[in-house]
Amino acid sequence: MVWLILLCLLLLFILVLVIRALRLKPEKVEEIEAKPEVFDHDKAVADLQQLIRCKTVSHGDPTLDDEHEFEKLISLLPELFPQVHRTCTFLMPGPRSLVFHWKGKTSEKPAVLMAHFDVVPVDEKGWDRDPFGAEIIDDVMWGRGTLDTKSTFLGVLEAADNLIGQGYVPARDLYLCFSGTEEVNGDGAPAIVRWLKQNGIHPDFILDEGGAIVENVFPGVKEPAAVVGIAEKGTMAVRLSVPTGGGHASTPPKLSSIGRLAKAVRKVEDHPFPAHLSDAAHATFRGMASHASFGFRILFANLWCFRPLLYRICSISGGELNALVRTTVAFTQMQGSDAFNVMPPCPSIVCNVRVNCGETTETVLARLRDVISDDKIQIDMLYGRNPSETSSTEGEPWQRLVRAVHAEYPGTMVTPYLMLASSDAWNYCAVSDHVFRLSPMPMSKRERGMIHGNNEQIPLSSIHSVVSFYMRLMRMC
Ligand SMILES: [Zn+2]
Repeated sequence: MVWLILLCLLLLFILVLVIRALRLKPEKVEEIEAKPEVFDHDKAVADLQQLIRCKTVSHGDPTLDDEHEFEKLISLLPELFPQVHRTCTFLMPGPRSLVFHWKGKTSEKPAVLMAHFDVVPVDEKGWDRDPFGAEIIDDVMWGRGTLDTKSTFLGVLEAADNLIGQGYVPARDLYLCFSGTEEVNGDGAPAIVRWLKQNGIHPDFILDEGGAIVENVFPGVKEPAAVVGIAEKGTMAVRLSVPTGGGHASTPPKLSSIGRLAKAVRKVEDHPFPAHLSDAAHATFRGMASHASFGFRILFANLWCFRPLLYRICSISGGELNALVRTTVAFTQMQGSDAFNVMPPCPSIVCNVRVNCGETTETVLARLRDVISDDKIQIDMLYGRNPSETSSTEGEPWQRLVRAVHAEYPGTMVTPYLMLASSDAWNYCAVSDHVFRLSPMPMSKRERGMIHGNNEQIPLSSIHSVVSFYMRLMRMC
């Protein structure tokens, strides 16, 4: 009798799991009748070459920046995009902040399309071609910024220039906003956001770089996916230091200050932050799982009982999966003494923390203090910003983006995700509830690895798709 009851309960449990998994269906992909967008592909390619050849490198030390290169790029724009310059109001709320206001039929619910035109430094020796030569080899353009993100900077401006040339007037006001300080978290984007606020402009839709069209990132998902960042993690630099005053290395104490730091590092790494599935991470898993194999659908449709299992899988896999569900700590910099026979007066170690949604820089500091629990170690936050707000995927703005993706990339699923890196878009959450992060181009794992790395390059076909995508999106704005 007991056996029978247990068997019935087991069957009921399995039934619940299966029914919930069956109900987790992928959203219907709307068939969009999409005519090819008409524009001069060769001009777009040549324009991007000119932009790549401007060495708009942002350095951690701003005195190394070459402002002439930034000025060169800005002065090229009227020549490359004459229609935009004729039709849009151009202003610069800051030295490396560009805004083009394209007047639509109404100023209600305006949209913002963003990109940045600065790039990270290059290690010339690691490149097989000139990083600023914009050479084209076998239909692929080489150069720093081809992927991150002069291609989307070009895409927005080229698309607007072509549509204006065709006599198109957007339904709503469009603001094309570009910063030249993204790579160093500079004032480029904040200056634009301050200007938007001062002028009472509350965009209903914002698109910046971020995710991309990717394949084979989630087990069991076969179709390409446009992963759109709807939130981004916070970021902090935290320094641990031991101000002991130093001493002679011939008479070391039992526990040296470096030994003390080593213990602290060990404790932090042995006590990872607790897993927490934020709304954005939940949306990531749900979006992917609805297209995944039945096993994954069972797992994700039943997080009420499988959540601990999911956290376990994330911990074991490490990397991106782990970073999606918890605050991560990466130790990145160390400082000791200047000589091998001198005890360091104040050795220090710095870590980069990526703060999960639901936590703040304060809660992270409190936990680090708690885990390290050594009052001889001073813990200071050198830099910190909290995770962004999570943008809603309910309503028209999200649907607009989905339609534009489907029009340019038929058969591609669109799924929200929690962005692990940080971007200029973070600043715009102060003026809009719909801030999305997608670089609208296919990006293979190899290409994603070139961002901020050596031999960055983009296929000419992607340049074409990016311009075409923005033309379709602008027609929907
Ligand atoms: Zn970027």
